[in-house]
Amino acid sequence: MSKAQELLSEYGLRKTGCRLDVLELFLANQYALAHSDIERMFGDRYDRVTIYRTLHSFEEKGLLHSINDVSGAIKYALCQEACSQHQHHDNHIHFNCTTCGQTFCLNEVLIPHLALPIGYQVNALHFSAQGVCKACATDDSK
Ligand SMILES: [Zn+2]
Ligand SMILES: [Zn+2]
Ligand SMILES: [Zn+2]
Repeated sequence: MSKAQELLSEYGLRKTGCRLDVLELFLANQYALAHSDIERMFGDRYDRVTIYRTLHSFEEKGLLHSINDVSGAIKYALCQEACSQHQHHDNHIHFNCTTCGQTFCLNEVLIPHLALPIGYQVNALHFSAQGVCKACATDDSK
């Protein structure tokens, strides 16, 4: 069984062609992917709605988390083991590279604790850093 097949059964998702292809794509990439990236890859095989539903079910199951990218696009990235259905714990910083335009999960860099005034309650917190990623910084050809 491939890693993608293993993950689908582990998360109780039926193995459809679209789910397998999309998951393989996430497993093969280090960076976050937008709906449009996936459509560009598989647009000839699956329609928009199927891709949308696939991403939605992955997010719901705790396989992927969404990122509000600085570009305004919503991107998705693989979750770490701590996430489960309806329970995301992706409290890490996202890094947006201004050279290659990719967004990366910095899983080991946690969002700092915010000391909010009394009466304020946080439901979602998006923390992203912008700069040059490791691959671009070490690539002399650019
Ligand atoms: Zn998550
Ligand atoms: Zn980069
Ligand atoms: Zn992330």
